[in-house]
Amino acid sequence: MINKIWKKTLLVNLFIVLFALILVRISFGEPPQGMKCYVIPSGGLTLPKEFLTGFSGLGQKITIPISTYLVEHPRGLVLVDMGMRCDNKPENYRNSVQCKDADLVNQLKKIGYSPEQIKYVILTHLHVDHSGYVNSFPKSVFFIQKDELNEANWPSSYEKGHYWPIDWTKLKDFDVVALEGDWDLFGDGSVKIFRTIGHTRGHQSVVVTLPKTGSIILTGDAVYLPEILRGTMPGIFWNAEEFVKSVQRVKLEKERTQGQIFYSHDPEQFKTLKLPPEYYE
Ligand SMILES: [Zn+2]
Repeated sequence: MINKIWKKTLLVNLFIVLFALILVRISFGEPPQGMKCYVIPSGGLTLPKEFLTGFSGLGQKITIPISTYLVEHPRGLVLVDMGMRCDNKPENYRNSVQCKDADLVNQLKKIGYSPEQIKYVILTHLHVDHSGYVNSFPKSVFFIQKDELNEANWPSSYEKGHYWPIDWTKLKDFDVVALEGDWDLFGDGSVKIFRTIGHTRGHQSVVVTLPKTGSIILTGDAVYLPEILRGTMPGIFWNAEEFVKSVQRVKLEKERTQGQIFYSHDPEQFKTLKLPPEYYE
């Protein structure tokens, strides 16, 4: 009899310990098993290098990749950024845009998905090379900083050439969450949006934390080249002081998460990344 009671007590204790372990795991925000992240090549741009690096690289041309990212989470598919349409571009971009792989809908199709299957879209900002395919995703919920929506719709004169409203005319009818700060998309720490203004008035970046790879910081244009992380000022920005603060924030996120940075436009890093059908897990 005593033996029986003892066994029962042991079982109850084991159950309590197991339950506590599950709770601890949840509170630490472990990324769910099976979560993946694809880097999707989405065309490119050929530009004078000083556009990207202030006064360094004067007279040089650089061809930069444009990337979008697809996160497969058990609770839904998330797209980060939407590339650049090849057709109907503003004049200052018309001769720069590289059309190979630029069609995001087609690129998604190659991985096996259609726009209707994308639950959430996070736009780092609304510049022409990050928001090209908004109109093609009517079923998605968009996460954009409120300040970015305001600036893109009523841009300052020097910003006008970088926003291309024709690409997101339908956004006003879509489901948009206008953020005013950071946001943990699934509440489990696996996809976290953090505010990194400076490149634009309402820029944001994303940390994706995967079960095997660990954390990947999708910087958007807060830090588009490694030179920017080392202190080079960009050629295009809304506010220099805020830009520098955001570079610092990206560095701190890298340190906090012990993660790696995926630069939005670095041709050298791009050559080393896994591309579909390969993915990060
Ligand atoms: Zn930009």
